[in-house]
Amino acid sequence: MLANIKYWEETAQENGFAIPHFNVWNAEMLMGVIDAAEETKAPIIISFGTGFIGNTIFEEFAPMMVSMAKNASVPVITHWDHGRSLEIVQNAYNYGMNSVMRDASASPFEENIRLTKEVVDYFHPLGIPVEAELGHVGNETVYEEALSAYQYTDPNQAAEFVQRTKCDSLAVAIGNVHGEYSSEPKIAFDVLEKVRNAVDIPIVLHGASCIPDKDVKTSISLGISKINIHTELCLAAMDAVRENQDNSFLELERAVRQAVKQRAIDKIMLFGTDGKMNK
Ligand SMILES: [Zn+2]
Repeated sequence: MLANIKYWEETAQENGFAIPHFNVWNAEMLMGVIDAAEETKAPIIISFGTGFIGNTIFEEFAPMMVSMAKNASVPVITHWDHGRSLEIVQNAYNYGMNSVMRDASASPFEENIRLTKEVVDYFHPLGIPVEAELGHVGNETVYEEALSAYQYTDPNQAAEFVQRTKCDSLAVAIGNVHGEYSSEPKIAFDVLEKVRNAVDIPIVLHGASCIPDKDVKTSISLGISKINIHTELCLAAMDAVRENQDNSFLELERAVRQAVKQRAIDKIMLFGTDGKMNK
């Protein structure tokens, strides 16, 4: 069933679990994560973003996302990840996404506020919640280099940012990056705690693939209530591709769907989302 992200993020925040956000851009990934959610009775977020349009035509794929969300036996949110402009998230909404992220985190503070508020002002009358980002979660790179110039979320700015933009959830930069980590992630739990104390809306962790389970659990205990996973779904899929390279393409694709499902189940269990569909 189609679900409301605001309800689920707030329920997660109140109950000490996190709702998983899975980036999906082909049928095997989409079916795999829905399989995982149904088997574990977990609410989930399925998400698309600009980075995938080289692989998949969003406007053709979105109806499948929406249909599978509606027909699922568990709550499913359809989300647009890292929206880089108002036009991009408007298009996502027009094709059935019921939650959007406006990411202006590469812009200076005042500009980030202006660009985020523009999207919030447009979408709140439509009943669509908006996620924003303060600080900047970097792209895949050498982790040590990323950390040397890392833009952590400033806890002192967080309250003002949330109050002025009226965003519904806040993605934080606390040592997390997108993609694989070239060395052990160093999550700044002190920054997370300060941000948690500064704002009362749900807080989001991006780039959570390959962060050790214990650090993920600590992050949830300190107030993270939505966690984004993409890279690990791809790594699981690639393992299945290698293991099935002598099989037929039909068999290989079934194995990929199964591998994505299993990795998604692992994350659902880690985040404590299993069995939460009736909350
Ligand atoms: Zn992200």
